[in-house]
Amino acid sequence: MGNYGVPPVTFVRGSGTELFDDAGNRYLDFLCGLAVTGLGHAHPRVATALAEQASTLLHVSNLFVTEPQLEVAERLDRLIRSGLDPNRSIGPGRILFQNSGAEANEAALKLARKFHGRGRHGVVAAFRSFHGRTMATLAATGQPEKHEPFQPLPEGFRHAAWNDLAAVEAALAPEVGAILLEPLQGEGGVNPADATFLQGVRQLCNERGMVLIIDEVQTGLGRTGAWFGFQHAGIVPDVVTMAKGLGNGVPIGAVWAVAEVAAAFSPGDHGSTFGGQPLAAAGAREVLRIMEEIDAPRLARERGSELKTLLEALPGVASVRGLGLLIGVELKPQTLAGRTAGEVARTCLEAGLVVNGVTPTALRLAPPMTISTEELVEGVGILAGVLTSDTKETS
Ligand SMILES: *Cc1c(COP(=O)(O)O)cnc(C)c1O
Repeated sequence: MGNYGVPPVTFVRGSGTELFDDAGNRYLDFLCGLAVTGLGHAHPRVATALAEQASTLLHVSNLFVTEPQLEVAERLDRLIRSGLDPNRSIGPGRILFQNSGAEANEAALKLARKFHGRGRHGVVAAFRSFHGRTMATLAATGQPEKHEPFQPLPEGFRHAAWNDLAAVEAALAPEVGAILLEPLQGEGGVNPADATFLQGVRQLCNERGMVLIIDEVQTGLGRTGAWFGFQHAGIVPDVVTMAKGLGNGVPIGAVWAVAEVAAAFSPGDHGSTFGGQPLAAAGAREVLRIMEEIDAPRLARERGSELKTLLEALPGVASVRGLGLLIGVELKPQTLAGRTAGEVARTCLEAGLVVNGVTPTALRLAPPMTISTEELVEGVGILAGVLTSDTKETS
């Protein structure tokens, strides 16, 4: 189907930060398949773990438990609760596995509904948010233009201005039982939440018994320089969803919830044939082991600040935003010269650098956390070349 437009390149293999197309051209991957392959392409340990699992046990259904998912659940629970103020530390949560980000959010929304029951089914999310493409997650996504072709969508979703606590409070009708937020809007343009905003929302949820769902699908697992984006604000959500970086390219999603909320799901309430199946879970297990060994959040912080410094020095760059290795690069109007950032990203691709246009005026960069300083310098050099030659061509 024409859903993704005409693909510009056929990639045939990758290694670390590098990708190669079917003509043998080399590219530096500063996008990671949209913040997925955080440990780089074809990580040998992940590849071995997958191969071993493939020849051991591939599928038995969720009528049974399998070993890889137990370790993934334990590690995720520990990482989500790590770094908390001991006074606010909470007991172990519970995990439900899914296959993708949208499914994780869909499950979280169903969980919040079941927790509160009929009459408190409403959800407040933010404008410019992105939560997925299923009917409920599309309704939660705060981009009305994406809703129109698919109306009527499930009801009960309201939207409030990003980083505006008063707007969230104003949206709290009596039927609202949950608030759903990203800690940094990825698809919406790489816009971090203010810590005070998340803290204020947490407070509102405490006061009114609402479930705080944090969508960590893009930001989770080290990407922003913390294990989870909400940890920058020192808050504890009631529900956390994750997916993209968890499998380093193997499809897996997960929902974590505090025990009290998790208890709302009984057998039969939700399910997924493949969710948490052994191949995906074995991949995620190895990903988490490696990420902890190399301290992935620290790498994201260190390489992220190097990348910011390199980008800020480019004449065509107006400003750089983001956290860790999830970065938005706002281009100057004279550098864009009437083109969109998406068109600039296309020129970068032709020059051997994979990035994407996240808004009409900004590029998104999400290189692997294993990237070397030399590769950062090389990639920013390619971008610099594209930005200068573009300016010359059009001036
Ligand atoms: C990508 C993304 C999703 C959707 O994940 P899929 O795996 O594509 O369904 C949901 N929320 C956020 C914040 C995302 O970035």
